[in-house]
Amino acid sequence: MGHKSWLGLLLLLFTTLPTGGIALADGETSPARDPKQPIDEAYTAKIRKYTTAPYFSSPLVDYLPASKTVPTPEVVLGDVAGAPGILPYAEDVYKYMRLLEKATPRVKVVSIGTTEEGREMIAVAVSSEANLKNLEQNRQRLAKLADPRSIHLDDAEADKLVAESVPVYYITGTIHSPETGAPTALMELAYRLAVDESPYVREIRDGVITLITPVVEVDGRDRMVDIYKWHLAHPKDFYPPLIYWGKYVAHDNNRDAMGMTLKLTQNVLNTYLGWNAQVLHDLHESVPYLYDNTVGDGPYNAWMDPILVDEWQMIGARNVADMTKFGMPGVFTHGDFDTWSPGYLMFLAAMHNGISRLYETFGNGGADTRVRTLEPGEYGRTWFRPNPPLPKTAWSQRNNNNYEETGLLTSLHYFNENKRLFLKNFYLKGKRSIQKPTAEGPAAYVLPADDPRATVQTDLLRVMLKQHVEISRATSSFQVNLPVKKEKKAARSADSEEKPKPVSPTTRDFPAGSYVIRMDQPYSRVADALLDYQFWSPEDPQTTPYDDTAWTFGELFGVQVTRVTDSKVLSVPMERVAELRSLGGVQGEGSVFAIDNHAEPALATLRYRLKDTPIDAAEEPFESNGHKFSRGTFLIRGVGRSDLDAATKALGLNAVALASAPVVKTHPVRAPRIAYVHTWISTQSEGWWRLALDNLQIPYDYMSTQALAKIFDLNAKYDVILFPPVTGNANSNAIVQGTPTAWGNALPWLNTPETPNLVGKNDSTPDMRPGLGWDGVAKLQSFVRNGGVLLTATDTSQLAISIGLANGVTSSTSEKMKIVGSIVGTRLVDAASPIAYGYDEKVSAYCDNGPIFSVASILGSRRRRLGPEMNTRPTGRGTKDDPDFVIGRPAFDIPDEPEKELWEAPQPTDEQSFNNPRVIPPANRARVILRYADSKDLLISGLVENGNDIAQHPAVLDVPNGSGHVILFSINPVYRGETENTYSLVLNTLLNFDSLNAGRKQADTK
Ligand SMILES: [Zn+2]
Repeated sequence: MGHKSWLGLLLLLFTTLPTGGIALADGETSPARDPKQPIDEAYTAKIRKYTTAPYFSSPLVDYLPASKTVPTPEVVLGDVAGAPGILPYAEDVYKYMRLLEKATPRVKVVSIGTTEEGREMIAVAVSSEANLKNLEQNRQRLAKLADPRSIHLDDAEADKLVAESVPVYYITGTIHSPETGAPTALMELAYRLAVDESPYVREIRDGVITLITPVVEVDGRDRMVDIYKWHLAHPKDFYPPLIYWGKYVAHDNNRDAMGMTLKLTQNVLNTYLGWNAQVLHDLHESVPYLYDNTVGDGPYNAWMDPILVDEWQMIGARNVADMTKFGMPGVFTHGDFDTWSPGYLMFLAAMHNGISRLYETFGNGGADTRVRTLEPGEYGRTWFRPNPPLPKTAWSQRNNNNYEETGLLTSLHYFNENKRLFLKNFYLKGKRSIQKPTAEGPAAYVLPADDPRATVQTDLLRVMLKQHVEISRATSSFQVNLPVKKEKKAARSADSEEKPKPVSPTTRDFPAGSYVIRMDQPYSRVADALLDYQFWSPEDPQTTPYDDTAWTFGELFGVQVTRVTDSKVLSVPMERVAELRSLGGVQGEGSVFAIDNHAEPALATLRYRLKDTPIDAAEEPFESNGHKFSRGTFLIRGVGRSDLDAATKALGLNAVALASAPVVKTHPVRAPRIAYVHTWISTQSEGWWRLALDNLQIPYDYMSTQALAKIFDLNAKYDVILFPPVTGNANSNAIVQGTPTAWGNALPWLNTPETPNLVGKNDSTPDMRPGLGWDGVAKLQSFVRNGGVLLTATDTSQLAISIGLANGVTSSTSEKMKIVGSIVGTRLVDAASPIAYGYDEKVSAYCDNGPIFSVASILGSRRRRLGPEMNTRPTGRGTKDDPDFVIGRPAFDIPDEPEKELWEAPQPTDEQSFNNPRVIPPANRARVILRYADSKDLLISGLVENGNDIAQHPAVLDVPNGSGHVILFSINPVYRGETENTYSLVLNTLLNFDSLNAGRKQADTK
């Protein structure tokens, strides 16, 4: 009630303010309606009614042209686009687009694929009848511009094509499901583009093909509409937050443009490239009122063409200028978004020679009109926001639609006016991609044929194919020259002796069959960006990276990728690879089959696929029939050769038949029963784990912390509990306590008549609020003590520590350390642990300010280990290394302190051990599997600042507890489909769940 009267006052005050006039250059068309075309009076009246102040509209959208034949969005929505209380399902949006298609030859709708849950995705083309009639010829012209090799990089030929071609501007809506405005804005935009006869809109229609995917995250949209309907039916209640968007991930669906793991990313890229579009413009809603965040701030992505940066500035600046002149407040560009990571959906265009664009408009997370109060950081005037948003105002979904449509129409118009320039740039960016080897380099990336992790190599190459990168395979062996590294001046240090440096090789040989990713191809840019290394300086003026600072795929997949600058690699005989397949199968004769272990995730798939076949793991390396096998090698007996041959061929694994079983200690490798736990706080990070397990076809029971707490006997049902990271605002307290139930109402996540799509293929609960609870904590504790294995990472590891499951392990954080989505070096500490099977001594891993683990041998011992400088001698006579003497008596020997590394638990001293029940017996102490590298070796790619705080600390720990184990990860081993190198740390834990003590040092197990 209170704010209604306030609102009235506000409207009264502001409706009298004048709006701006338009200034035009010579020959420019005025953004104004055609006075000869009648308007839809009723629709127009509602637009004005739902717009909360006139300056939240523009001359482009404050009316709707009438049509006798083409239906307006009202026929489907029952009201106008952006009306309060109206949020259409994707199906309704499609229904309208198809009505348009039927009613006018200026609209064409195509299906572009389905989602993980089987819902359709569409693209809607709007243009003149003639343009849509000639789509195919136009597409062929654009394809030549997209691949300048087809016209032999002939600029004159390109100019001809540019003059004849109609460009394609691709708009994508509501990838982020709680950002709800785009679908109705895009329905109305399609209508305007098809119907409006004003010169301004006609020019767009005649000059551009506007391509629209009104709903990108279709699964999430339908859930969001359900929630909104629930809210309308229970207006006084709190409504459930959107815990699931797509089947797997939420907000991170806009971080998949590198890994290409989600259907929506694949469908959008295939559409974008299939139409040879020039622009990909993705619509979001989180910043008031229209933030063209395309231009952003530094550091800019280092692999995109500077031509693109210029295009961003041109379109963005004009966009802001036009809307400012319309009198619309709060339209700006630049801002604090950095343009480093290529993981955003829009970046598919930036990495494929197009123009990426992104709007943040202002949304209410639904179609309610609300009074919105902004923070000073949002309404403050800055150099890039001279006309900021209002500190407080009523905001409606119609306002949002006005801003989105006005921004898009002015962009389309400007794009059309300059389309020859943009089409020529499109060609030039493609041409410069092809010229990469002779311009900035490199000439190619090579992935050697003899990489021991063939299946992982294939997975990496599959990502490249999804990115439409061309891959070739050398038909003979070849040699390349390696770049000569510039010698750095040796640091002057008094006590460092000159050591002869190892001479680095100057050439490298690759066997026949090696994969070559040539850089003289149109999409070399994306391959270069994904395979190269990143360096984000700790001195960079940008102190808050917007997202990950590194993604080097060779490191994250753990396969060899060589950046080759020697251009003779391009003349090596090679053929294009159409389909990727790693060759597998059984070789040799014998009835015992050995599969060497290189930490390939496919091994886990094989274990589950052959679930009735006994498989053992060798606990030590061995040799047989002239083959060398590593620790963890699978030894398979009692399986028919042809069955194993088929299974290994399907997975690309190589089995060797041995004449007899090798003499080596073994233990069984099993396919455990897995309980997979999620919270009702966030499913974002665990979703990437689920996706990885599903792709590997590893079965699990998916359950919430609430459901886990209700299982009577966890050990009877499960061998391993996987509890992936929660992230978001989760801490141990939130995971246990959940959201308070002492007030408010239940937050159901259930399918009901109002919410038929909510549950999908995920999970449900009558009330999302309760957490794990103390019952659940007790269940976890007894599960582990009774022999179960609990695997946790980052914040769930901190939970395990805080509920007393990891004796002797402490976890801390560092205020000054910055490892922001970086790739760090880790080192194998205990290669005999089954968790480490298949790994080499150095392992690259993804880390995002992981918790800093320390291990102790005394419970409650929290002595901060500060490194060797703490072991210096006390004050006294002599030099640093001299013994001290007390006057009048002989010197005493100082007892040596046992030297321990930073990642190890210090041995308790005699004094500490005396009558101390808190000393942890060796067999109960944490086993360090992997530790962070030394400070100087920590940075592999990205940003590492003050890494000393985590250097050398444990990265993966196996903590015995009762007869079970808790496995703690400080790194996140499973992330965004990018970290296949570390998947097997998790998978090894699963397969060896009942033999984790294998290889543990004798002294420890007594
Ligand atoms: Zn968003």
